[in-house]
Amino acid sequence: MLNENYLKLPGSYLFSGIANKVNEYSKKNPDADIIRLGIGDVTKPLCSAVIDELHRAVDEMASADTFKGYAPDLGYEFLRHAMAQNDYRDRGCDISDDEVFISDGAKSDSANIQEIFSKDVKIAVCDPVYPVYVDSNVMAGRAGDYDEMTSGWSNVFYMPCVASNNFIPEIPSESENIKLIYLCFPNNPTGEVIDKENLQKWVDFANKTGAVIIYDAAYEAYITDSSIPKSIYECEGARTCAIELRSFSKNAGFTGLRLGATIVPHDIKFYSEVKKEEVELHSLWKRRHGTKYNGAPYIVQRAGFACYTDEGKKQIKEQVAGYMENAKFIKNGLKEIGYTVFGGENSPYVWLHTPGDMTSWEFFDLLLEKVQVVGTPGSGFGPSGEHFFRLTAFGSYENSVKAIERIRTL
Ligand code: PLP
Repeated sequence: MLNENYLKLPGSYLFSGIANKVNEYSKKNPDADIIRLGIGDVTKPLCSAVIDELHRAVDEMASADTFKGYAPDLGYEFLRHAMAQNDYRDRGCDISDDEVFISDGAKSDSANIQEIFSKDVKIAVCDPVYPVYVDSNVMAGRAGDYDEMTSGWSNVFYMPCVASNNFIPEIPSESENIKLIYLCFPNNPTGEVIDKENLQKWVDFANKTGAVIIYDAAYEAYITDSSIPKSIYECEGARTCAIELRSFSKNAGFTGLRLGATIVPHDIKFYSEVKKEEVELHSLWKRRHGTKYNGAPYIVQRAGFACYTDEGKKQIKEQVAGYMENAKFIKNGLKEIGYTVFGGENSPYVWLHTPGDMTSWEFFDLLLEKVQVVGTPGSGFGPSGEHFFRLTAFGSYENSVKAIERIRTL
């Protein structure tokens, strides 16, 4: 009766685990001033361009002439066009409006996208990794069995991202027969990026082996170095092998509003044993979206559209720059104290090596108990995250400064 695959998942979702520990600590120490630099949620309010558009859209809902009911399943044309134009065509990427599927965010899309692939495909993920990619494949019964010793799944190919490979995964051997590759850059949790040359190698590999890359670009707005690609479609040949995930959460603060998009180019095609012809992945995702999703709310899509106006673009840029000031302060502060630190330059995440031989969770406890700073233990993202720790730049500048001052006292 039950989908037993759910029961294979070990422990609780990483962030619920952290929340439980912090709640327990708060109960015992009700006066503690805890600084939360753990979960990747934003703290700045929505910019005025977005707020103004939200108000306008809400007013439209109050009048029979302008009221909107169900949104189109795949998204309103105004937003699909704005994204395709601004995020892609203006950057030289050949993406058409109808290849943009609007959704309620990259978490659900990154979890759902596996549904359009066969149960037998072997997946590859970075280690450490945003947990949703693996957990969603576990729930679907694609991941095999969990091995406590390795903290990994038998049918998942793990690609360590460590200091020695600059946190860029190495291309697997073709004999591994990987068909679905999850890549995320700027990376959560390491905060590191991939340059165009290395990303091109992945695209070439996928095209050569008939694999698909799920490219999670949720943090592209944080790329400040102009030589780093903001989209996988900047690489030649990506239209035939890559699906890209976009989010409004981290660039525009929509974590509570909920809005994202998945780009599925028409050129990704596979032979169907049933139809005896080539089929576009686009048609499967369109069908899945149309059947299981009833469209992001009109007012939220209008808010998304506001992000592409001149004023919206300017305000969002300022917001991201504000978070990047925090990232710079945290990274430089930790370095000054003597930590080995990565990320934080084209990303809101700072990835530090824990001092001495401490495990990630030991360091978590130390920070919480001694200086009341909450971060995320690297081991929660995979075995190669052990002895690492993630701090986010999504707090206030004051709290970022306070956190570093407290860590300095350890
Ligand atoms: N992808 C990555 C890599 C993330 O880190 C997150 C959120 O933390 C998401 C997707 C989720 O984005 P959204 O808020 O659009 O669901």
